Formats: sequence, C-alpha cells, structure tokens
Amino acid sequence: MTSAWLSLGANLENPRTQLKHAATFLNDHINIEVIAHSDVLKNPAWGKTDQPDFHNIALEIKTPLSPVELLDACQSIENKMGRVRREKWGPRLIDIDIVAYDRIIMQTPRLTLPHPFAHERDFVLEPLSEISPETKIWICQLAGN
Ligand code: ADP
Ligand code: MG
Repeated sequence: MTSAWLSLGANLENPRTQLKHAATFLNDHINIEVIAHSDVLKNPAWGKTDQPDFHNIALEIKTPLSPVELLDACQSIENKMGRVRREKWGPRLIDIDIVAYDRIIMQTPRLTLPHPFAHERDFVLEPLSEISPETKIWICQLAGN
C-alpha cells in the first residue's frame, strides 16, 4: 500500500456536494482507502475569471494501485460523475488530480508527478498542507521555492 495525495476541485451544480460524492466514490473503490481530508477551500477561478468560484479539497489515500492505475481510477470516477471536458481552465463538475504519489518523480505524456503546477497553486498547497505539511514542503522544495 502506498500513500498518495489528491486534489479535488468543482465549481458547478453545488460544488460541495460534488466534492463529497467524489470522496465517497474514491473511498468506495475497492483499491482506494481515504485516510484524511482537508476542509473545503473556496477560491476565485484560476486562469479564467468569468465563472463560479471553485471549491477545493485535498485527500490522502492509501492504495495498491500504480500511479497510472490510480489516474485511470480518478478519471473513471470523473466520467461516472458526468464530467465533460470543455475548454482549458473552464468550469467543471469535478476534477480529480494526483498531487503526489509517495515520493515518486515521473514525467510521461499521461502523468506527471508530483503534479506539474501544484507548487504554484495555493488552492492545491493550502488544503494539502492541512493533511500533509511534509508533502507540501517536499513539493515546494523540488520546485525550487
Ligand atoms: P486539468 O489540467 O484542468 O486537471 P484535466 O483534468 O482534463 O485538466 O487533465 C488533463 C490531463 O492531465 C489528463 O488527461 C492527464 O493525463 C494529465 N495529467 C498529467 N499529470 C497529472 C496528474 N498528476 N494528475 C492528474 N492528471 C494529470
Ligand atoms: Mg484534472
């Protein structure tokens, strides 16, 4: 079993409820156990301002899945919840990103770990630091800040 940290975001159709549903779907997955979750953080949208505020949480999980298998599981939950991919930075029902998987560093076309933008996004770092300050510090040190 490996520890991993997820960042969840939502800004459509009662975002708090979407985050709760996503956390439940994740914990119901046979190979994912949710260990901890942060408070919900509300933020103005990033990159594209004319849309509803985002709500974000961080989750710590334990899983026997490989990083790519975990990404598959997260994306299949996004799809099951009805996420439709529209424009970049656009509104979303649910976004489930892998912030970090253990202390693995990898860069492939499908998956970069830790998440390539985590270190510059307070809406990722702040909830993460609530549940795993040492992971937040590791990510920021790796990015050189
Ligand atoms: P966003 O960048 O807004 O999260 P998407 O959820 O559509 O947009 O993700 C775009 C792509 O980012 C995914 O198809 C996935 O392959 C890739 N990706 C790369 N690294 C990660 C990661 N650490 N967590 C989640 N997705 C990632
Ligand atoms: Mg995503």
